[in-house]
Amino acid sequence: MAENPFFAPSTLPYKLPPFAEIKEEHYLPAFEHGMAEQLREVDTIVADPAAPTFANTVEALERSGQVLKRTAIVFFSLASSHATDAIREIETEVAPRLTKHGDAIHLNRALYARLKRVVTDDPEEAWLLEKYRVDFVRAGAELSEAEQERLRELNEELSTLGTAFSQNLLAATTASALVTEDAKELDGLSETALRAIEKDGKYVLPLLNFTNQPALAELTDRETRRRLYELSTGRAPENFGIAAKMAALRAERAVLLGYPNHAAYSVADQTAKTTDAVEEMLGKLVGPAVANARREAEALSEQAGFPIEPWDWSFYAEKVRKARYDFDSSELRPYFELDRVLRDGVFHAAGELYGLRFAERDDLRGYHPDVRVFEVSDADGSELGLFVFDPYARPTKRGGAWMNNLVDQSHLFGELPVVMNNLNITKPAEGPTLLTFDEVNTAFHEFGHALHGLFSDVRFPRVSGTEVPRDFVEYPSQVNEMWATWPSILANFARHHETGEPVPAELVEKMQAAEKFNQGFATVEYLAATLLDWAWHKLAPGETVEDAEAFEAAALERAGIAFELVLPRYRTNYFAHVFAGGVGGYSAGYYSYIWSEVLDADSVEWFKENGGLVRANGDHFRSALLSVGGAKDAMEAFRAFRGRDPRIEPLLERRGLA
Ligand SMILES: [Zn+2]
Repeated sequence: MAENPFFAPSTLPYKLPPFAEIKEEHYLPAFEHGMAEQLREVDTIVADPAAPTFANTVEALERSGQVLKRTAIVFFSLASSHATDAIREIETEVAPRLTKHGDAIHLNRALYARLKRVVTDDPEEAWLLEKYRVDFVRAGAELSEAEQERLRELNEELSTLGTAFSQNLLAATTASALVTEDAKELDGLSETALRAIEKDGKYVLPLLNFTNQPALAELTDRETRRRLYELSTGRAPENFGIAAKMAALRAERAVLLGYPNHAAYSVADQTAKTTDAVEEMLGKLVGPAVANARREAEALSEQAGFPIEPWDWSFYAEKVRKARYDFDSSELRPYFELDRVLRDGVFHAAGELYGLRFAERDDLRGYHPDVRVFEVSDADGSELGLFVFDPYARPTKRGGAWMNNLVDQSHLFGELPVVMNNLNITKPAEGPTLLTFDEVNTAFHEFGHALHGLFSDVRFPRVSGTEVPRDFVEYPSQVNEMWATWPSILANFARHHETGEPVPAELVEKMQAAEKFNQGFATVEYLAATLLDWAWHKLAPGETVEDAEAFEAAALERAGIAFELVLPRYRTNYFAHVFAGGVGGYSAGYYSYIWSEVLDADSVEWFKENGGLVRANGDHFRSALLSVGGAKDAMEAFRAFRGRDPRIEPLLERRGLA
C-alpha cells in the first residue's frame, strides 16, 4: 500500500505527478483510500466541539481529500488523453462511486448546518463561504430525506449513463471510420494524408468528433463524401436513447431542486443567471446567421453547377474561396511548423505581452513519449509554474482540444500551477508536423486557458485559475487567439519549414479576406448545436421523448435554425459536451462559447484601442482579470479590465451579423 504513488504528495518539481511511477493498478486503491480518508476528515470537522469558524469548517474542507484530488486529477486527465482499456474499465466502475461520494458530503446535514453558522469579515473568505453555501444548496442540502434519497438515485443513474454515452461514442468513432482499399475513392487527399491512414493495404479515414469532417473539403468523389458524412452523423445511434433518458432525469432533478427545468438550474450560477438572458442573446443572432448561410449556399450551388447537398458544402466552399479570394488554405501549411508555432508564436506572444520565459525540461516526463514539459518563469525571473504540452492525436485520446490543471495554484498549500494543453494534431509518419491555420488558432486558444491557470494568484484551490463560471471560462482563451494573426507575431513564427522564408504578406491578406467567407455556415452550425442542447434541457419534467431524432429535427425547426444544408456541429448522438461523462459538463451550457465571445470581441477592441501588443496591456489584463481566477465576481473582474459593461456590437461585426 505504501508504494502507491498517490498516497503522498509528489516530490517532483512543482509537484508534477510522478507519471513514470503511476501504474493502472494504483488508481482503484487510491480512489478508495482517498474517498474513505475524505469522509473521515469530514466526520472530524462535524465532530469538532468548537463553534464553527471559517478555519475549522470552510478551510478544513478545502484541505480535505488530498489523496482523492491527486488521484482524480491524474486519472481524468488520462481518461481524456490516453484512455487505455484498463482506464475505461476503471472509469465505468469509479464514476458512480465518485458521484455517491460527492453526495455523501453535500447531503451531510450536520456539515451543512455547521457551514450555515460560519461568519467572516474577510472578503476573500466571505466569497468562498458563499460559493460553498451555493454548492451545497445546488447539490440538494436543503431537501427532505426522501427527496435527497431520490436525488442520490438520479445522480448515480446520470453518472452511469454519461459514462456509457462517452464510451459508446469513443468506440463508434473508431468503428465508423471510412474504410476503403481503393485509393481512387480518396482522390483529393494529399500523399502525406494517404500515407498516414494506410494500414495493411487498406485506407482507414478516422472520424473527428464533429459533424463536418475536414476531409470533406478535399475529397473529389461525391459518393465518398456522402458516405463519410453519413458515417459521421449516424455514429453511435444507441446514444440517442441514452441522451433522451438523461434529459428526462435532469429535468426531474431540476424540479426537485426548485427550478422549472434543467436549463434554468444550469444557468442560475453562471454569469447569464437566467434562461431569458440566454434566449435574448441567441435571438439576436439566429435570423441574420441563417440568412447569411442561405446566401453562402447559393454561391456554392452556383459554383457546383447543381443544388448542393450537406456533404458538398466544405468542398465547394473551398472552391469558392479559391475562385473568389484566390486562396488555397493548403499553401499556408509549410509555414506553420509545430515547434515554431509553439516557441516563436504562442510562447513569443506571451513573452511580448507578459514577459514570460519558457525552458523545456527534458528531465520531466509525461504519461506518453510525445508529452513535453516546459518551465515557465515570470518577467522578474521568478518561478511561475509548469506547462505540459500533448499535441498529437492518438486512438486513446478523445477528440477536440482542451486545457486542464495537474496542480491548482493556491496560497493555502503554497502550490504553483501545473497546467496542460491537449491538441489533436495528426502525427506525420516522418518529417516535420505542419499545421493548418485552424490548428494554429487552436494552439493559441488553448494557451489562453493555460495563461489563466498560470497567472492564478489566489488563496484557495476551489477558486483557482479557470474555476470561473462556465459561460466565462472561454473568454480569456478566445482573447488569446487574437495574437495568432497579429502581424509581428505571425511574422515571427510563420516561416517556411525548409527555406526559413517568411510567409508572403499577400498570402496572409488573402487568408484574412477568405476568413470572412463561410461565417454564415460556422455561426449556424454552432447555433444549431447550442439550440439543440437548449431544447433538450428545457424539457418539462415528466415530458418523455420516444423518438430522439424526431425531437432533434422539431427542436431545430422551432428555434428557427433548421436549414437542411447545415446540420448542428454536434448532433445529439455525439454531443459529448452535454451528454458524456467526465467532460459532459456543458449541459445547457453550449451557449457559453458565444456568450464568452461577446466579452472576447469587446476586449480585442480594447487591446487595439490601447496600442495592441505591449507589456502594459498584458499586465492590465493579467492583474484585473487573469490573476483573480474565480476569487471574485466574474463580471466585476471584466468591468475592472474593460472599465464598463460589455457591448455586443463588436461580436455582431466580427460574425457578419451587424
Ligand atoms: Zn476553450
